[in-house]
Amino acid sequence: MDGAEARIAFASGKAATTGDFLGQISRGDHVVMSETNYPGTAEVARHTLPRFDIDLTPVDTTVPANVSNALRDNTRIVWIETPSNPLLNIADIAAIADIAQGAGALLVVDSTFATPIATRPLELGADLVVHSLTKYIGGHGDAMGGSVCGRKELLDPLRTEALSHYGGVISPFNAWLIMRGMATLPIRMREHAANAMAVADYLEDHPRVESVIYPGLSSHPQHELAARQMANFSGMVSFRVADGQAVAGRMMSSFEVIHYAVSLGHHRSLMYLLRTADLAETSYGLAGEALDRYRGVAGDGLFRFSVGLEDPNDICEDLDRVL
Ligand code: PLP
Repeated sequence: MDGAEARIAFASGKAATTGDFLGQISRGDHVVMSETNYPGTAEVARHTLPRFDIDLTPVDTTVPANVSNALRDNTRIVWIETPSNPLLNIADIAAIADIAQGAGALLVVDSTFATPIATRPLELGADLVVHSLTKYIGGHGDAMGGSVCGRKELLDPLRTEALSHYGGVISPFNAWLIMRGMATLPIRMREHAANAMAVADYLEDHPRVESVIYPGLSSHPQHELAARQMANFSGMVSFRVADGQAVAGRMMSSFEVIHYAVSLGHHRSLMYLLRTADLAETSYGLAGEALDRYRGVAGDGLFRFSVGLEDPNDICEDLDRVL
């Protein structure tokens, strides 16, 4: 689906990410990464890579010039996630691919939120694409998997090392479930995007909602780039309310359609409050201007909403009950 020469499947998105890191980079290398992204990726980059003497520079990758400024002679990988978890930031894949490759680095794109239906990073110049298959590609929340795809010469070393030596091999049953789910991906993504747009519009008009982030809204700061780079705005919406913790409590007891649970990309709607103190400070280690930037968008916490395939009126009624 990504138009890749080769692909390797792993036991989870995390196994794919860590396998790719450890397969592509060596002691003394340098990595440039989005300053906020899936917390598991952020934590591997911040907590594990330094033990192998690998330096990390986290930057705001919504501005390609920040990537240029962070590059060093030993930069091996530029890692972006677009749209990003949980801020739904969009990174300009074509511009960043030029910058990274001009400096001899590889551009890796975690495209889990977009799926190949929305964005095809390899066609925009990326070297490798990572997906958590656990999310939209499998689509039903019943199997974990991950994948890395790109040029065969880049993947061959991962096949022996990351896949075989580290052992993060996908189970045949999970692979079968994910392939079965994949058959309906184009149809599901169309419905996820339509429902997410309806829910984002509803939330934007709701008096108790402070802000809504969805790449399909014209209020998204990078809506134009999203419209250029994405053929479908996907199903992820983030929003903020004044008393998030109390609203989260009501969600747990009163939701009838939406599930208050982690993960995303399933047929069911999933909602989760990501508290800034847990995420920005612990997973991302943000301080100073970077923390101000994150708090400026997320406040004390952001609801990450994976809008499912239920009737959008039912979803909005459920939201009405708790907001
Ligand atoms: N990449 C992104 C963007 C994610 O959101 C996640 C999980 O939430 C992962 C990777 C990890 O995937 P998995 O849960 O399959 O390990």
